[in-house]
Amino acid sequence: DRFSRLLPTLKALPVQAVHNDLNDWNVLIRQGVSCPSAITGLIDFGDMIRAPVICDLAILAAYAILDRDDPEQTLAALTAGYHSACPLGGAELAMLWPLVRMRLAVSVVNSTIEAEGRPDDPYVTISQAPAWRLLERPGLDDGRILARLRLACGLPVAPEAPAILGWLSANRGNFVPILGRDLADVPVGDLSVSGSILPENPFALTAAEAAMPGHDAPLWLGRHGEPRLIYTGLAFIGATKSDNRRTVHLGIDLFARQGSALAAPLAGEVMRAGYEQGHGGMVVLRHETGAGTFFTLWRHLAADCARLVPGTRIAAGEVFTHIGHPDGNGGRAPHLHLQLAFHDDTGWPGVADPDDRTVALARFPNPAALLNLPDEKVAFTPESEVELLDYRHNHFARNLKLSYHAPVMFLRGWKHHLFDQWGRPWLDAYNNVPHVGHAHPRLRAIAADQLGRMNANTRYLHPAQRAFAEKLISKMPKGLEICFFVNSGSEANELALRLARAATGGYDIITPDHGYHGNTTGAIDISAYKFNKPGMTGRKPWVHLVDVADDYRGPFRADDPDCAAQYAAQVDDALKRVAARGGKVAGFICETFPSVGGQIIPPQGYLAGVYARIRAAGGLCIADEVQTGLGRLGTWYFAFEQQGVTPDIVVLGKPIGNGHPLAAVVTTAEIARRFAEGPEFFSTFGGSTLSCRIGKAVLDIVDEEGLQQNAAGMGTRLLAGLRTLQDRHPTIGEVRGLGLFTGVDLVKDRESRTPFTAAADHVINRLRDMRILIGREGPADNVLKIRPPLTIDAEGVDRICVALDQALAELSA
Ligand code: PMP
Repeated sequence: DRFSRLLPTLKALPVQAVHNDLNDWNVLIRQGVSCPSAITGLIDFGDMIRAPVICDLAILAAYAILDRDDPEQTLAALTAGYHSACPLGGAELAMLWPLVRMRLAVSVVNSTIEAEGRPDDPYVTISQAPAWRLLERPGLDDGRILARLRLACGLPVAPEAPAILGWLSANRGNFVPILGRDLADVPVGDLSVSGSILPENPFALTAAEAAMPGHDAPLWLGRHGEPRLIYTGLAFIGATKSDNRRTVHLGIDLFARQGSALAAPLAGEVMRAGYEQGHGGMVVLRHETGAGTFFTLWRHLAADCARLVPGTRIAAGEVFTHIGHPDGNGGRAPHLHLQLAFHDDTGWPGVADPDDRTVALARFPNPAALLNLPDEKVAFTPESEVELLDYRHNHFARNLKLSYHAPVMFLRGWKHHLFDQWGRPWLDAYNNVPHVGHAHPRLRAIAADQLGRMNANTRYLHPAQRAFAEKLISKMPKGLEICFFVNSGSEANELALRLARAATGGYDIITPDHGYHGNTTGAIDISAYKFNKPGMTGRKPWVHLVDVADDYRGPFRADDPDCAAQYAAQVDDALKRVAARGGKVAGFICETFPSVGGQIIPPQGYLAGVYARIRAAGGLCIADEVQTGLGRLGTWYFAFEQQGVTPDIVVLGKPIGNGHPLAAVVTTAEIARRFAEGPEFFSTFGGSTLSCRIGKAVLDIVDEEGLQQNAAGMGTRLLAGLRTLQDRHPTIGEVRGLGLFTGVDLVKDRESRTPFTAAADHVINRLRDMRILIGREGPADNVLKIRPPLTIDAEGVDRICVALDQALAELSA
């Protein structure tokens, strides 16, 4: 019925010969490994007919959008492409969506009839199920689709939109003040993702918080186009935490005293009015102007608005309603939400999905002119990623790297989630610094508290120094009882080298290949991952490398029962090289589980063999636990426990400050005594009052929130999920890990174990598209590194596995 009413319009559209059945079974495609896919031909010309041109696109589109997650966007992309080669007019675009639906309706009816005659031919009903799914899909909005198609083809959102916006702008300043006063000096509040103090937990917002308190100005404005984290109620979020929430505000808010009288800025006619407990009063007005008709929505009004019957004329300046009371408005602070549109059949969503903001903001433009305000005053201006990149390019060194082909920007965090400026949640499965979670309220409170009191260095006494040291030592094996506090892992490793040299009188260091210990001169000297790179000076004579104890790729493999012993025995050769150059060994340093080397778990017995040899030669054993310490491994608090050894010096960093720059070195009394024979040790910021309080709190939180246990449980779940994927995807050569220290080694084939670097690049960038952060490591950069904050939950772990499954499947497609 609806379609037949459109037939006169259809008949007036441009006509030509059309193929009339451009479904995907009739398009020939060339798909090759080395050449890009391309359309090479069409078949099945039996349906050709003289018909409106737009029918050809409608038929093609009907099939192209079947079973797509984003049928509207797909339709718009297809239409934009068609329009670029064969321009379409506004009248044709208006017919496209009705034609698509009609095609599908005809298709299901036709195939049902044909199937009766040809019950054994599956081709007849091949599109039936997906066609029904699309026809019955909820949420597809005719007005929004047309707006989207028009914008995709470079047309104004509605034919009359430019004239109306021009008219509004020309009359800015002449409208009757809706609150009876000029609004030019009224402050503008900031409820954006970065600016708002609320909510602390973006996933658990109570109605009271949603009332937007914290702004005590009696009168203030809320911005148009602003992404707001406050919209976290179930109505605003999709099925999972990864779905977009609708965050982008489509009106202007005017916060004012409840009961404030509201006057019409220009004459209008009531279209609809109503009052609903919890949402307050609502009125839609229609405004006729010389430039065309537009509509305004007024929300959160007092109950008096309900008396307005459709058709009531409101004169310019007439007080027609009042701002509502919080009780009737879901507890919200009293305010008017004013929104503008070119049509009244929009459903008037108050906020939009940020991915759809271009279309939404065009359909509901800034109503500032009606308040006699310049648009800029109440328009949200997003951070420009392009400008930030540009600045970075010009003022930061080129070897300061960004992650991903398309870099990402985050403004907020919560536990293992990060939020971009549009309030879209991302799963952080990569960052180990926010060990106890991003934006931990307790750490924020401690930092604010301590900065409000004092923050000084270790030359003065403070109980926080003792409290942190006591907590740290309580986690260490017996004998490791002297603490040094510094600012970074690099600085801690520098200090570890000085300790070992002071205590042994030796200078030479033995360390595994591909290790990383920091960015300072001394730390780089012992980091083969850095000094062997182009542009570096290479290995210093006092540094002696052994192979990484990698039983998947190294010279000795997991199937060799002597694997650990053979790797450990390489230290004998290194010690011989020390002697050969007339040196003396100061110590052995390694990341207990090599991380940049490819998320390696050394075979059992490896470190015991190494430590025995080093100690026999008079050297000390340094464990760099920056990546592995503090409960990440689940079963173990430190990785050296898993190897059954006790180091002489333990280095801790990154997670220990949860983002605050803090690192620590813990050693024995004897080593510290020898070191103390030298000059004063002082680090200006290391062990500051603030750092000590934060460090202690991080360790307490790991214990009190059961994060080590969570790492064990979630690590097991993750490894099991990854191993299931390994059964399905031959690209996965090995899955390794312990707790939340995991690696997935991607190979070209399992036999040769040739690293598949391009696959790892594909996977991390595809997971980025799915808003999941992971990394890649290893000498060939082919090992996926999954290393989330210890707060990750089952939902997060499962999401990683589902996303990896999809990204890996794309590789073989
Ligand atoms: N050691 C290891 C094992 C590390 O992973 C890192 C940093 N990635 C460091 C030391 C250096 O720490 P920082 O960047 O804090 O100096």
